[in-house]
Amino acid sequence: MVYCAENYKQQLLDLGAVEAVPLSTLVSFRVGGPAALLLCPKGEEELLSALNLCEQGHIPVALLGNGTNVLPGDEPFLGLVISLTGFREAPVFQGNRVMVPASASLTALAKQSVRRGYMGLERLCGIPGTVGGAVAMNAGAYGGEIKDTLVRVRLYRDGTFSWEDARLADMGYRKSPYCWPKALVTAVELQLQPDDGTAQATMESCMLKRKEKQPLHLPSAGSTFKRPEGHFAGALIEGCGLKGFSIGGAQVSPKHAGFLVNAGGATAADVHALMAYVRQTVFNETGIRLEPEVKGMEEVTCIF
Ligand SMILES: Cc1cc2nc3c(=O)[nH]c(=O)nc-3n(C[C@H](O)[C@H](O)[C@H](O)COP(=O)(O)OP(=O)(O)OC[C@H]3O[C@@H](n4cnc5c(N)ncnc54)[C@H](O)[C@@H]3O)c2cc1C
Repeated sequence: MVYCAENYKQQLLDLGAVEAVPLSTLVSFRVGGPAALLLCPKGEEELLSALNLCEQGHIPVALLGNGTNVLPGDEPFLGLVISLTGFREAPVFQGNRVMVPASASLTALAKQSVRRGYMGLERLCGIPGTVGGAVAMNAGAYGGEIKDTLVRVRLYRDGTFSWEDARLADMGYRKSPYCWPKALVTAVELQLQPDDGTAQATMESCMLKRKEKQPLHLPSAGSTFKRPEGHFAGALIEGCGLKGFSIGGAQVSPKHAGFLVNAGGATAADVHALMAYVRQTVFNETGIRLEPEVKGMEEVTCIF
């Protein structure tokens, strides 16, 4: 199937795109078919050139951060995957404000800010995504959310990049107005607080809880389902006797039922089938509908 005229493809290759990259190498679930093209832009200029070419050539664009909340399919993705993990700039601290490229690791930033004597991100340490992905998803853990620190976002809009004050009122549980294809974040400004002496201990205790409770030794996308109002997805799934249940290589983690894991050799179809089975069983037994937190390829793709 033709997804892109040869001249556009060649120009994307000239920009540094590579062909036929398995999506399984780009997402933490370690499943997924091949992407026709992958580009990891090193900065806004390269990103802009790629987006312009895709717009002119009507080439589908999927945007990934670190791929830790995305579940692709097994079929080929016929378009360009942009992985925002390769910007060259480093975070810049100015007093208790920090400007961070979207591609920065959230966990590395949390550790760096604690080392510098600031708090605000210590509860988010251990979330394995980028800062851009965290803002897109309004990532959160142990009572903290990225929105608590967000001041401004740098967005791509109509062929250019500009800073905007963060629309905090539109951000909520795993929801923000900054998620592709609605928006593309290239940098953020965060406001931290001076450490009151508890940041390091809080960070260590959050990391320990993750290690004790989560199946971090197996590929997954973290919590597969959102927390339904008044409940925990993991407790509902466990209550239905599904801990350890598997389809093909996909398994409901015996350690934490809220995590569906790739226990070895899973296909995307296995994970999708297990998700559907878990949702149906929980609905039949409790009347509660679990909504996926992980995003499918179609949700992270824009066709200009
Ligand atoms: C072991 C494990 C533990 C986890 N624990 C937590 C947790 O405690 N709390 C939590 O909230 N999440 C958790 N997650 C899920 C995931 O890490 C977060 O949602 C994270 O913020 C996703 O970041 P990412 O860079 O990997 O984004 P991706 O997964 O690559 O993308 C997620 C979405 O954001 C969009 N996106 C990515 N970057 C940008 C950008 N720059 N501009 C606009 N849109 C963008 C993508 O198109 C996609 O729609 C966990 C995942 C794993 C594997």
